[in-house]
Amino acid sequence: MGAMIDGGAEVRILCEERCGSTDLDVAALAARVGRDYSLIGRRCRCRITPGCAGWNHFYYLHGVFRPLWSDADLARWSSQRLAAMHRQ
Ligand SMILES: [Zn+2]
Repeated sequence: MGAMIDGGAEVRILCEERCGSTDLDVAALAARVGRDYSLIGRRCRCRITPGCAGWNHFYYLHGVFRPLWSDADLARWSSQRLAAMHRQ
């Protein structure tokens, strides 16, 4: 993430439930979790809308938005989601 800050990258958070989007304060997050932290392949519970059950994904804005995850991450997340549904 240090390279992102040095490059002046913007990271946008999008909710998979489409409740909204917000810009991530990369410098503030790095101050908290360290510059070696990577957002690649990460997601978190929705922080955009209180009470929203969606997951937030990160986009890296560098000319264009690039998804910060791989097909493998997507497959892992969707299988987790299926497993969660089956447990209900
Ligand atoms: Zn949401």
